[in-house]
Amino acid sequence: MRIVLASSNPHKVKEMNEIVSNTGLEFVLPPHGFDPVEDGETFEENSKIKALAAWGLTKTWTLADDSGLCIKALGGKPGIYSARYAETPQKRIERVLSEMEGVKDREAEFVCAMTLVNPEGEVEFAYKGACRGSITQEASGSNGFGYDPIFLLEGRDVTMAELSESEKNRISHRSVALREVIKYLTNRFQ
Ligand code: IMP
Repeated sequence: MRIVLASSNPHKVKEMNEIVSNTGLEFVLPPHGFDPVEDGETFEENSKIKALAAWGLTKTWTLADDSGLCIKALGGKPGIYSARYAETPQKRIERVLSEMEGVKDREAEFVCAMTLVNPEGEVEFAYKGACRGSITQEASGSNGFGYDPIFLLEGRDVTMAELSESEKNRISHRSVALREVIKYLTNRFQ
């Protein structure tokens, strides 16, 4: 089953296709012209906006993921602004590290809200997954993307960027949410 992934991030499509390998699902990028205004106030709202925008262009099954990093001591920031917190991924990491300078409570979580829309344009399923950890004092590791190098996994001594792709795909916020979507689709079509 082909599902349009409401994202313009090829890295995410790749990551998600690896998670669904062997399930019969395949994600494809939306057509040209996919550029929704993400003006929701929550991950859930933005995920729904993106899924419906991709459905508007394709009239087929669409799945959107809206994700980001939430840091407790920063009141949940960068949160829904994760992708826009500074100009480049490197500058975004630098901004977070400087805002966390001297902060003792470094608890954080990666969050991922998914929305599945059917060919009729109805939201069929939505789920929010999370992955808990904390913010390091400095960046470490070169795998993954975004804030991975400064996210220390709960109960482990490695950052998300020090995990192999397959290890990240086993535990990430995206895989937690995507596994629920797979479960839903498997039950629906069985
Ligand atoms: P979105 O594409 O609007 O969902 O924005 C997601 C942003 O959150 C990305 O640009 C990253 O900055 C951050 N983010 C989401 N997932 C991850 C992840 O798995 N690792 C690191 N950063 C992430």
